[in-house]
Amino acid sequence: MEILRTITEVREYVVGQRARGARIGLVPTMGYFHAGHLELMRRAGGAGYTVVVSIFVNPTQFGPGEDYERYPRDLARDAQMAQTAGADVLFVPEAAEMYPSGYGTYVQVEGVSEGLCGAARPGHFRGVATVVCKLFNIVQPEAAFFGQKDYQQVMVIKRMAADLNLPVAITVVPTVREADGLAMSSRNTYLSPEERRQALALYQALRLGERLIKSGERRAAAVETALREGLQKPGVRLDYAEVRRAGDLARVEVIEDDAVLLVAAWVGQTRLIDNLVVGV
Ligand code: AMP
Repeated sequence: MEILRTITEVREYVVGQRARGARIGLVPTMGYFHAGHLELMRRAGGAGYTVVVSIFVNPTQFGPGEDYERYPRDLARDAQMAQTAGADVLFVPEAAEMYPSGYGTYVQVEGVSEGLCGAARPGHFRGVATVVCKLFNIVQPEAAFFGQKDYQQVMVIKRMAADLNLPVAITVVPTVREADGLAMSSRNTYLSPEERRQALALYQALRLGERLIKSGERRAAAVETALREGLQKPGVRLDYAEVRRAGDLARVEVIEDDAVLLVAAWVGQTRLIDNLVVGV
């Protein structure tokens, strides 16, 4: 497995692979890998792609006062894990490689990027869409792999790819969880042992909402109340708890199509998100 630092090197690598008939699968990440990241890599490799994994803690998707500086980083550890998961290349650019001085172009996806995390983190999805668009242009992959864990992000990227005619197939990989149900996240490393126990409230609230829908509840407001109640736990501070239509994140009053339950909450100083799709 190679580690490449510059856009020129990645381009040369991809051109070489293509000349040999390879198809490229891209896995964009911010590093500090866990089993969720590795699952994306395995899916890409399993589908026959040459697997390019980017590791870039993207400054433009962090707001002022967020955790950009303290976001966990460990390239040696990541490289070892990526290799075992079948990655062919790690692309690890510096911020100045992606955003050289004078940089001035951003991708703004309307609609799906509003509300939910878009309300709590202004500018976040503009940063995400911009960096993913750049990565698509740099790597020119046939396919790219994203986790359902970041549900709204997936919707933003699908919208962008469709609207900008980007010839990349977007594959969504189900959320990988700890044994007790907590969604894996690089930010879980911020949690103290007590916070780690409290963090389970997110998944438990989602399961509560799911049970309600499965038992026949169709009023979104009633499900949202149950989600909020499920998050009323010591050490947990609600950001949002919403029911949306799974296909397009549209707001719903009455659940008629597959729904997605989305929650965000602070556990101590750590903001966590999770979601569950419920078929009806
Ligand atoms: P991140 O490094 O957090 O930006 O995540 C990189 C990619 O991994 C994104 O597509 C995430 O949605 C995905 N991902 C993060 N956590 C999980 C998880 N628990 N299960 C599946 N995919 C995940």
